[in-house]
Amino acid sequence: MTTPARPASRHHKRPKGEGQWALGYREPLNKNEENKKNDDGLNVRQRIIDIYSKGGFDSIDPSDLRGRFRWFGLYTQRRPGIDGGKTAILEPEELDDRYFMLRVRIDGGQLSLEQLRVIADISNKYGRGTADVTDRQNIQLHWIEVESVPAIWEALEAVGLSTTEACGDTPRVVIGCPLAGIDADETIDGTEPIAQILERYIGDPAFSNLPRKFKGAVSGCSAHCTVHEINDVAFVGVVNEAGERGYDLWVGGGLSTNPMFGKRLGTFVSEERVPEVYAGVCGVFRDYGYRRLRHRARIKFLVNDWGPEKFREILEKEYLGYALPDGPAPAPPRGGRRDHVGVHPQRDGNFYVGFAPRVGRLDGDTLHLIADIAERHGSSRVRTTVEQKMVILDVAPDRVDSLVAELEAADLQVNPSTFRRQTMACTGIEYCKLAIVETKNLASGLIDELEQRLPDFKDPLTINVNGCPNSCARIQVADIGLKGQLVVNDQGEQVEGFQIHLGGSVGLNPTFGKKVRGLKATAEELPDYVERVVRNFEAQKTDGETFAA
Ligand code: SF4
Repeated sequence: MTTPARPASRHHKRPKGEGQWALGYREPLNKNEENKKNDDGLNVRQRIIDIYSKGGFDSIDPSDLRGRFRWFGLYTQRRPGIDGGKTAILEPEELDDRYFMLRVRIDGGQLSLEQLRVIADISNKYGRGTADVTDRQNIQLHWIEVESVPAIWEALEAVGLSTTEACGDTPRVVIGCPLAGIDADETIDGTEPIAQILERYIGDPAFSNLPRKFKGAVSGCSAHCTVHEINDVAFVGVVNEAGERGYDLWVGGGLSTNPMFGKRLGTFVSEERVPEVYAGVCGVFRDYGYRRLRHRARIKFLVNDWGPEKFREILEKEYLGYALPDGPAPAPPRGGRRDHVGVHPQRDGNFYVGFAPRVGRLDGDTLHLIADIAERHGSSRVRTTVEQKMVILDVAPDRVDSLVAELEAADLQVNPSTFRRQTMACTGIEYCKLAIVETKNLASGLIDELEQRLPDFKDPLTINVNGCPNSCARIQVADIGLKGQLVVNDQGEQVEGFQIHLGGSVGLNPTFGKKVRGLKATAEELPDYVERVVRNFEAQKTDGETFAA
């Protein structure tokens, strides 16, 4: 593995002590930093194999349980029966269940049928059949016991998958276009740079102690389906003046509290350079990122304070050792939706078929069924998307109808309603310890209600449901973003509900949704509320107007 250059100089203006290593703040300033300094997160793997899987849950050192386990995609899940009102007041150990969520990273969303079947087997054998596709193309399993983890890793690694740095203060999964290499309209195929990043830098101790998580994207998709605007680092396919294909570099996007869109550095990055530039950006974040306060420890705050010019200068001078050429901005996104749902032609004459499970929720048997359906129809490749959907590639024209019929029979809809297609939900209170409200079942019920009440509604409309103020399901960039919180109902009782954000979007004119002051709905009122919003929009929209415009 390549270790990137450490910074050559340390002469930059000191922007107050925020725990930046490059400015000499090497002493840990909070418990998380202390834990990382005491022992690298990657070292927990051997303890899981040698000690914890044999000694069971009670043998786990607390600093590993609530810290380093994340470096291998393991979080304790929420103890069942604890309501959202207690989330903020209970101690972590009171919220911990003895089971884990396990995140399998699927870089670029690319899966062979063999890999899909292995995940399905693990789900059925060790995870009570659970399997959720996330909005970063991963698959998450639940109910995992620590005793099972070595066997799970062995099975995953035998087919080239892993959970390494799927969570934690690390370079997380690198997302990519599900259609990389097959889409007739793509600008450039991002498959190889993602594979190189994975091989060279994931699990590399040089990057295993970042200030916080680091989310990457590499894509040449003309629909801009990897939402590059909200990644910590993103490479977006472009063609420069000389007609060369490469990437435009964006840094500093992120949602959660203080959402910010990424900024272009104005550089042209050739395909061969993508991995080292990725490592360079990661190095800048590692060394200059703010570590004092967790909520300021994302790269977006650094980029916001420095501006893109200074960021580029430091990247080039201190990490790359060369200047990147200037390059063009990406072409505007191809019209339509970014999710690749439906039947569409590939450039080789075959078709790809995207389908919509309900809010990303699947199970082990259904994953097996998807693999079987794909195989019966001559495909050997499936993809996950950043919209909690899936795609089967390489379907011959005369096999498409039969494949669609089999998917639809399993409620894996290829021609879903807007509501099924564009509603996303985070994990929520069922398993997440930070959650205040339930999300997946609520969103699923909301889809059913809206399909019944508004059967003719066809316009694009994203509804993103989050279980807390974090933004795992991207509330700020949804047409209707729902942030879970407790609200007071008409009877004066505290119940599950949502703060509503309206009018967010990514794409041509990225905008954060507006938090409408005082606009909240209880979970029960939600279908009525959304129906009202949609009917008002329908009544008032002008020709060609979309919800966000
Ligand atoms: Fe958990 Fe909140 Fe993220 Fe939902 S948004 S998965 S509730 S942290």
